Amino acid sequence: MLKLYNQLTKSVEDFTPLDPKNVKIYTCGPTVYSYAHIGNFSSYIYWDLLVRTLTLNGYTVNRVLNLTDVGHLSSDADDGEDKLEKGAKKEGKTVWQIADKYIDAFLKDFHALNMVEPTKIARATDYIDEDLELVQTLIDKGYTYTTGDGIYFDTSKFKDYANFARLDLEKLKAGARVEFNKEKKNISDFAIWKFVRPGENHAMQWDFEGRPGYPGWHLECSTIIHAELGETIDIHTGGIDHIPVHHTNEIAQTECAYGKKMANFWLHCNFITIDGEKVSKSLGNIYTIDDLRERGFSPLDFKLWVLQGHYRGDRNFSFDDLASAKNRRLSWRNRIASAYQITTNSTFSRDTALALVSNNLNSSELLAYIDNNTLGLDDWEFIDQLLGLDLIATTPKVSKEILDKINARESARKSKDFATSDRLRDELAGNNITILDTEHGPIWQYLS
Ligand code: AMP
Ligand code: ZN
Repeated sequence: MLKLYNQLTKSVEDFTPLDPKNVKIYTCGPTVYSYAHIGNFSSYIYWDLLVRTLTLNGYTVNRVLNLTDVGHLSSDADDGEDKLEKGAKKEGKTVWQIADKYIDAFLKDFHALNMVEPTKIARATDYIDEDLELVQTLIDKGYTYTTGDGIYFDTSKFKDYANFARLDLEKLKAGARVEFNKEKKNISDFAIWKFVRPGENHAMQWDFEGRPGYPGWHLECSTIIHAELGETIDIHTGGIDHIPVHHTNEIAQTECAYGKKMANFWLHCNFITIDGEKVSKSLGNIYTIDDLRERGFSPLDFKLWVLQGHYRGDRNFSFDDLASAKNRRLSWRNRIASAYQITTNSTFSRDTALALVSNNLNSSELLAYIDNNTLGLDDWEFIDQLLGLDLIATTPKVSKEILDKINARESARKSKDFATSDRLRDELAGNNITILDTEHGPIWQYLS
């Protein structure tokens, strides 16, 4: 039985999907105006673990990930600058070129992290017609009002609005800046459609009721889910930053427009910090997957570092800890290399392993279980399915030529020809191979 923490009920619950065999999941994806950083990828790594855990629990997973390629504003409060417009200006490109460039980069890193391909990757700009239908439905049902800069959702008309994030609306109101959007009826109201104002240079725009505009930033998730997955889905995932605004607003729009519960489970991962600081441009700690590569780490070292901690826990990243994760991954690959060469009895139970991670994605306990047991090759295959660390594929068996060298070195050593055995040892090191003497005789291992 899989147990997951659910933000709807604020408790860990037994997971059962609506359809006993198939699970529908939606993940809020990146805004594609710059490179995704390791903080962003930590969230997708946890959701990859979720998908893999569901699959090994026997479910078929139907998962949609969206790409926010439509400009939305850089603050949660529907003001500020449009992120894609900003990126385009900075790089001297069109907003469409910016979106394409960063989608390519995102997917390249996504694949390098060996993540399960979502059933559907949906680009927000492909759903503008559906967005407009949703806007029209909300207008028709009386949930909106129009201001000088857009069409707003009146959150006072959705009685459960504050529940999801346990929002204190009175406190929010008290803390609001006075000068801020006086046309809004309630502090928590949000734009579902923004108007392009006369003289405003906004490259992405569509026509609604005879005037140009563009969707508010929560809209796409509601429409994509409705179009691709249907009315109520099983699991919706995102970062904790999404709880008070983005997901709260998605729920309001969807449940008011379609009259159905949006999702049964809502999972959020905590933000990682780096050397104790939050990830931010001004601190210069926005590392990309390529930055890790430049420092000699595989994307899979980072994936293992992420899996060492819990998705709801405090995660602090440092390069020292990444180096430990790299060593752990190497030690596991060398255990696979040993398993190619020596048969030992497995002390590992796949049922136990799956049960550990099925307990609200407790991957760190699973990793300790792997460290403390002997695994056969079948077990390692299972671990590859569960964690997606590509351990077996990154541990190729050595070639016949290397095996010959290993044997030649062994004979040279036996006949006390140390000059030859040392030369062969150095040659093997050049091939990233070292020899370990064990009670079962010498075996090869990878050096790195
Ligand atoms: P964005 O492209 O800004 O919408 O972010 C994409 C995803 O990364 C969202 O689910 C965010 O919640 C998540 N995210 C952003 N920063 C971090 C961080 N430091 N740690 C973990 N997740 C993050
Ligand atoms: Zn979303």
